[in-house]
Amino acid sequence: MTDAPLRVAVVGSGPAGFYAAGALLDADVPVEVDMIERLPTPWGLVRLGVAPDHPKLKSVSRAFERIADKPGFRFLGHVEIGRDLHHEDLVRLYDAVVYAVGAQTDRRLGIPGEDLRGSWSAFEFVAWYNGHPDFQELPFELDVERAVVVGNGNVALDVARMLALTAEELAPTDTTDPAIEAIRSAPIAEIVVLGRRGPAQAAFTPPELAEFGDLGGADVVVDPVELELDAASAAHVESDTRAQRNMDILAGFASGKPTGKAKTVRFRFAVSPVAIHGDDRVEAVEIVHNRLEDREGRVVAVPTDERETIPCGLVFRSVGYHGVALPGLPFDEARGTMRNDCGRVLDDAGQPLGGVYCAGWIKRGPTGIIGTNKKDAMETVQLLLEDARAGRVTHNESTTAVAVDALLDERGVRRVVYAGWLAIDRLERARGEPLGRPRVKVVTWDELREAAQAVAAET
Ligand code: NAP
Repeated sequence: MTDAPLRVAVVGSGPAGFYAAGALLDADVPVEVDMIERLPTPWGLVRLGVAPDHPKLKSVSRAFERIADKPGFRFLGHVEIGRDLHHEDLVRLYDAVVYAVGAQTDRRLGIPGEDLRGSWSAFEFVAWYNGHPDFQELPFELDVERAVVVGNGNVALDVARMLALTAEELAPTDTTDPAIEAIRSAPIAEIVVLGRRGPAQAAFTPPELAEFGDLGGADVVVDPVELELDAASAAHVESDTRAQRNMDILAGFASGKPTGKAKTVRFRFAVSPVAIHGDDRVEAVEIVHNRLEDREGRVVAVPTDERETIPCGLVFRSVGYHGVALPGLPFDEARGTMRNDCGRVLDDAGQPLGGVYCAGWIKRGPTGIIGTNKKDAMETVQLLLEDARAGRVTHNESTTAVAVDALLDERGVRRVVYAGWLAIDRLERARGEPLGRPRVKVVTWDELREAAQAVAAET
């Protein structure tokens, strides 16, 4: 390796992108990182996915700010791969590329009525209430008495809880104003969360589940009969602390009495939606009762003949995210990830595509908590540095920051640099401060560009 810094493009500025950038900039060899981000704002799901009433989770952004302050870091926001720059450009302009683009779409249920008005993916709802500029025009009509959330992961819990929060609970958050107003004025009396398997198989985590016991405006209802376990589930609970804690919390909910709060969150288990009914908008969800069967150590849901219809005006499908292929890059459609080996992207023949890496959800799929991405990104970066030490990734003198800027200028790309983001950040915090809120987000493309522009033009 030469003394000249290795120039690496990190595509995506969520947790995986930042942790990859941090590990690269902490390496024992000189590295420069250009973080390329489609939005004018960094932090990915920490800004636009983590529920606004979870400020502690969002505070990980401070660690990202420290990474951004490291010498050798540049943020190139509002630059889209596939529009402003292409993979071939990155390969030419950088010594290595790390894709950390996350999982950009949601999984579908594949049932009739899924596209009726009032049937939404959690992906859309979360992006809307968090202020993602692409999702602000979505016409969420929360003027219903019952909402059904399909799925038993933490995103399903976020959606159910956001719908259940009171105006007082929403007020100190950075939820967008239209979302706060829509939730505050919604006549929603019941939120039903549907798990296709049993409580022992739920994907959500105990602290997130326990929070439902502390909601100011909603009681939690669980039918004790649905907590009765088959032998395989009982054995699983015995050996799995998370499942055990979830079961304890659910048992607590089941034994409690409703206290007359305005809303009820009802957890149902071993039921799957089979159709969403309605004429021009959602009127009901038809569900089938499942039997749980142990198949080679995995408990699966098997539909029975018993069906039930739950009248409701809204359905949120929260059954996981799915990665999207980047043009010209190998992709495993079934897993929704880039084809890779521990972060080294593989070509069609299964050989490493020299100098191309991935990290985070586009590498391993949409699993784990924010911190999981640290270990994941470090693994990728270690392989990148190993390849550099072995001469498989080398510094090319033509890969300079000047060359990147020249190409972006030639293409008329008005990027938002880090100072531009800091201007947006200052504006949002200043708007939030008098209201006792962490920030009031800038949520339209025009306003984001405008807020960033004054500074961006100077730099
Ligand atoms: P997830 O944890 O993978 O949960 C997906 C859920 O959807 C599972 O309960 C799954 O059930 C269910 N499901 C899948 N297909 C279904 C179908 N056809 N019908 C009914 N149910 C179906 O995904 P997620 O909730 O989107 O979360 C993604 C990741 O982000 C997770 O790792 C999560 O923990 C993390 N996250 C963390 C937090 C937090 O820490 N506060 C907040 C949000 C998200 P089966 O198990 O039966 O497949």
